[in-house]
Amino acid sequence: MAQDSEKAELLRNEREGVYWQPFTANRHLRANMPPRTLVSAEGAYYTTSEGHRLFDTLSGLWCTPLGHAHPRIVEAVRRQAETLDFAPSFQLTHPGAISLAERIADLAPQGMDHVFFANSGSEAVDTALKVALGYHRIKGAGNRFRMIGRERGYHGVGFGGMSVGGIVSNRKMFAAGMMPGVDHLRHTYEPAHMAFTRGQPAWGTHRAEDLVRLVTLHDASTIAAVIVEPVQGSTGVIVPPVGYLQRLREICTANGILLIFDEVITGFGRMGENFGAQRFGVTPDIITFAKAVTNGIVPMGGVIVTDEIYNTFMTGPENAIEFCHGYTYSGHPMAAAVGHVVLDVMREEGLVARVRELEPVLEDAIHTLKDLDTIADIRNIGLTAAIDLKPVDGKPGARGQALFEAALRGGLLLRVTGETVSFGPPFISTAQELRDMVSTLRQLIIQVG
Ligand code: PMP
Repeated sequence: MAQDSEKAELLRNEREGVYWQPFTANRHLRANMPPRTLVSAEGAYYTTSEGHRLFDTLSGLWCTPLGHAHPRIVEAVRRQAETLDFAPSFQLTHPGAISLAERIADLAPQGMDHVFFANSGSEAVDTALKVALGYHRIKGAGNRFRMIGRERGYHGVGFGGMSVGGIVSNRKMFAAGMMPGVDHLRHTYEPAHMAFTRGQPAWGTHRAEDLVRLVTLHDASTIAAVIVEPVQGSTGVIVPPVGYLQRLREICTANGILLIFDEVITGFGRMGENFGAQRFGVTPDIITFAKAVTNGIVPMGGVIVTDEIYNTFMTGPENAIEFCHGYTYSGHPMAAAVGHVVLDVMREEGLVARVRELEPVLEDAIHTLKDLDTIADIRNIGLTAAIDLKPVDGKPGARGQALFEAALRGGLLLRVTGETVSFGPPFISTAQELRDMVSTLRQLIIQVG
């Protein structure tokens, strides 16, 4: 603990603003308090510089389902650093990347057998968009350049991902630099029709018809791909209405448009299946992944594509390189080593099945909060959930912020955006920990008022 308070002291003495924190209200933070710092983590808990032990309600940022400091991962990192710490990814490779690609393909829906590695969700999304453009061009349909995203979608912060994304605040500052030819589907969240739904809402399937409107407006022959998160994670666990994703699939297939599922959050077990595609029974043409594949320990992302897409690149006109795209760190040996251990642990400990067992526990627990008058909505699916707090008049976000602050002292690390609190606890959580999380939350919500 002495060491922790020394660290806290160090951070208090930091040079003002040299570290410009991502996605952070830096001005507000520095005016009001020293940086909030996490100094250690083990299992499902973080420790802050003030010495508070916090239950990790979002698995880091949806990325550490096996918990922190997993001994097998620690060992794999050490061993790999000693054996092969880096391998150039262009024209060369290493055994770990090849075998990890094979294992990921084995987990993916049938017919999706090819994996291209990147290093983050944002890179995975931009890779997926480029695969879609390249695919159509090879097919002689280079005029298919449009991308269709969805309102409230989050697809990372690259120029492609930002453009297809639908979070207004992430777009407007950079509007002039957005990718041309992007349009958006309407989102499916209408609380008047679905508040407090457990799992998938029955209302909203017809919102998929919005794609017919866009196809008519732009003409199918100009559209390359539709990209959606099966469950919109970053905007607060917006669950797809029953049959909605199936209908998007039908419309895409009928019009020669590729369907991309951005599974950066839903991939690798969070939905109680390997991928959201399997949970919802819809096979896209491209899946993006990141986060959980390496338990967040070493960055990794990537895309999985159908045999049709891969074979098109392999049999298209012979360029020196079929797909001129890649990253220095694609398939990084450290990430590949960790990815193998993550998949080993998930399989040996039956963690995807455990998510299926924990889903009703989280669902039952979180929906008990419905009786609190400051709660506007509660949603859940797989091992994810979200609650919306009612905004205080004239002070949007204030109640959410107060809850976040109170939780930092009250035992929970919360992910709060505006008045929405999102949950994606580690797969290693016990049923009791999930119930305790919700009862602590109840106390905190009452305390904040
Ligand atoms: N896509 C989705 C669906 C995401 O949830 C995220 C991150 N939350 C990203 C892309 C971007 O990932 P990264 O932050 O690793 O670039």
